[in-house]
Amino acid sequence: MNISTQAVQIGLEWDTRTGAVTVPIYQTATFRHPGLGQSTGFDYSRSGNPTRMALEEGIARLDNGARGFAYASGMAAITNLLLLFKSGDHLVVTEDLYGGTCRLFDRVFNQFGLTFTYVDTSDIEAVRAAVTHATRAVFVETLTNPLLKFADLPALSDLCQQHGLLLIADNTFLTPYLQRPLDLGADITVYSATKYLAGHNDTVAGLVVVKDPQLAEQVYFHQNAAGAVLGPQDAWLVIRGMKTLAVRLDRHQHNALAIAHWLKQHPRVTRVFYPGLPEHPHHELMQRDVRGFGAMIAFEVDSHSLVEQLLLKTQLISFAESLGGVESLMTFPEVQTHADIPPDLRARLGINDVLLRLSVGIEDAEDLIEDLRQAFEA
Ligand SMILES: *Cc1c(COP(=O)(O)O)cnc(C)c1O
Repeated sequence: MNISTQAVQIGLEWDTRTGAVTVPIYQTATFRHPGLGQSTGFDYSRSGNPTRMALEEGIARLDNGARGFAYASGMAAITNLLLLFKSGDHLVVTEDLYGGTCRLFDRVFNQFGLTFTYVDTSDIEAVRAAVTHATRAVFVETLTNPLLKFADLPALSDLCQQHGLLLIADNTFLTPYLQRPLDLGADITVYSATKYLAGHNDTVAGLVVVKDPQLAEQVYFHQNAAGAVLGPQDAWLVIRGMKTLAVRLDRHQHNALAIAHWLKQHPRVTRVFYPGLPEHPHHELMQRDVRGFGAMIAFEVDSHSLVEQLLLKTQLISFAESLGGVESLMTFPEVQTHADIPPDLRARLGINDVLLRLSVGIEDAEDLIEDLRQAFEA
């Protein structure tokens, strides 16, 4: 079944009693037991809640994994995955990582004896060189934030299999609609569902999908033990968002390509990073693995003063963090999303004081371009 159909089907047949087309919001903490030692399959909502389960089954189907898990945020999801490791373990990690993930690794899990080496994970030899006897996993963002480098999952998967490592893919920017990492050799996918999956800038949520059923049991143990689960109301909102994932992304991408072309010809724009442009270094490789290039654009302008002007003078495009919602948002990575990346690494990555990141929404492309045009001229 095509993924756009699978997405619409999420939760459709849950309520056999009434035939409700959408899954009900089971706003309950606990469930009555039918008898001593008996269970309906639900006992307590941290351990399992039907609305959350509809979402968890839905994302597992979209990603072709054994089992899905829903958390209170993307960071809660990543935290839960890190509980698979123990003191002394080492992970090789994408260097231009989401700032919050970097903060979690370096300032929280470091204290528990985990170590991390940051490399350009689009460079397979750099990953190979970073693997040590203590390495247990490679953690990549499939399309990176904010400079949109692409990870070659089949090559990384070969490397991981040679060394017995888990391959964990943060697929937030692409979603299962554009790429299914588990089909390309990853063991685990993780999402900030706050972004494209929920898609409306109205909910914070995280999702994980695990390919192997035994590993999924371990992740379930930690989900229940640590308890950072997604509540039923938010689970319902994520399902509602996911039903339109395919149509939204088609529109997001259409708009992004139009804006990338427009930015490219603008005299005050010095660089445009968008993998849908043929000159993007990973444009060709990506075509092998993805259905589309997503709708995140980064670009550099010719002076820092123009950064503030664009952020404040755009009217349709809001100056705000986050991404992947129907509303277009623009942010300044150096002081916002990536402030927690060490300054020397930031400089090496090219996250500088003239770089802006644009999450292209589903408004009319011409209106968005007009908004940018007037902001450049203001
Ligand atoms: C936003 C984001 C996260 C964190 O997710 P939250 O839902 O904000 O906790 C992790 N990874 C990537 C790539 C993100 O964009």
